[in-house]
Amino acid sequence: MGRFYLPTAIDYSNGDPHLGHALEKVGADCIARYRRLRGDQVHFLMGMDEHSQSVIAAAERAGVTPRAWADDMADRFARFWRRLECSHDDWIRTTEPRHVAGVTALLERIRANSPDDLYAGEYEGLYCAGCEEFKTEAQIVDGHCAEHPTIDLVSLKERNWFFRLSKYRDAVAQRITSGEFRVDPEFRRNEVLRLLEAGLQDISISRQRRPWGIPFPGDPQQTVYVWFDALINYLSATGFPEAGYEKHWPADLHVVGKGITRFHCIIWPAMLLAAGIGLPKRVWAHGYVQWEGAKMSKSAGTAVDLETAIARYGPDALRYYLLRDIGFWNDGDFTWDRFDARYTADLADGLGNLASRSLAMIVRYRDGIIPAGATTPLDARASGVVESYDAALGDAFDFVKALDAVWSLVNGANQYIVQREPWALAKAGRDAELDETLAALARCLYRIAVLVEPFIPGKAAELWRALGQTGAIDASAFGRLGEPQVTGIRVEKPRALFPKPTV
Ligand SMILES: [Zn+2]
Repeated sequence: MGRFYLPTAIDYSNGDPHLGHALEKVGADCIARYRRLRGDQVHFLMGMDEHSQSVIAAAERAGVTPRAWADDMADRFARFWRRLECSHDDWIRTTEPRHVAGVTALLERIRANSPDDLYAGEYEGLYCAGCEEFKTEAQIVDGHCAEHPTIDLVSLKERNWFFRLSKYRDAVAQRITSGEFRVDPEFRRNEVLRLLEAGLQDISISRQRRPWGIPFPGDPQQTVYVWFDALINYLSATGFPEAGYEKHWPADLHVVGKGITRFHCIIWPAMLLAAGIGLPKRVWAHGYVQWEGAKMSKSAGTAVDLETAIARYGPDALRYYLLRDIGFWNDGDFTWDRFDARYTADLADGLGNLASRSLAMIVRYRDGIIPAGATTPLDARASGVVESYDAALGDAFDFVKALDAVWSLVNGANQYIVQREPWALAKAGRDAELDETLAALARCLYRIAVLVEPFIPGKAAELWRALGQTGAIDASAFGRLGEPQVTGIRVEKPRALFPKPTV
């Protein structure tokens, strides 16, 4: 185990975050927390993409300066991510001086290392203001950007700086097929390889001087194209070009949405190759949160309000639902009915009920002190669960499978209670069997608290404290999953972890 640098895509600061943003951040947070449990030195980065032209438009509409608008949006996003318990170690905004320095330095590196890769030219094309980029034929569907069917494309012509992307087709393809630069899941990798096979065009990487953005090094009449600027955040956040940036770089895992793989799997590695800087090890492209089979989008008016979704049952329940029902592989539908059903079955009746029954019985029958007890079939079952959990989270980021595994333990423990009937054992004075049962349940809850921490960290911590554990749920707690030491510890009956809504 070692260092693990995990940057997520940074978000446009032109409107409030929605559930699509939340899935990405919560999923990346789950990976970061899991890697910490496994003993990695994680460096988890999140941030804001602030040089978009849409910031200027939004600021104008709101009657404030772009700077004030971006500050306000950064606060709003950061507040949402704190409420959703994101454990990022750094937060970068592309308007920060450290980022401006990183962008300038990277362009200077490209110019020094590959002088022919930057050239001036005239560009004319159809421009999508949603993506902030010129669109190629293949990216246009029914006269609109495939990602932004409600935004009109605009014909633009101007003098720009170009990046010789076409030169890097084979080099990028070779690194992807060799696995040196991994693109996952496999069906996304194949999409990227097909794009490379079709050939690459050079890309315009500047705009004629705009009031909002980073001046192009050596040509103050031009501003660095917002996407080119934004990609570099992953590097500038490491302190690049200052000495020591290699402490984090190269990134171990980029978490991005499926709509921006061309930027992260083709343009970004080509930029780094041109500059002579190491490539990230891996890009994971997740699907979208959908509403009735269509992309949830603010411009199409189908974005579920994040505030409303958090308020329904609290942040942990929303994290659980997003990761359990949608996950990081394919697109998935968000529906209130599914959310309610998951909450009731898995959280309130499943884990919540298990915790309250088990702890209440330890309080009632053993004055709150966990008794000693030999291992039981429930312990044997747990070791298989940990194996499946590791297999699901270690490389494949299959949150659904990992949670299936943990919930097989939750359900197994609830069945164990029914089977053992501790209340009958107490009534009959069968103390040894009662001790064995209560101790097995306490060990099981210990394991569950650790395993759910990456998914529902707030509730995991509540359960952990109720179990009388004083330390953090960390790598050493994970290391004790085989034989949790719980004997003699005083527990308390927690307030309901997942209260039933009072309707
Ligand atoms: Zn677009």
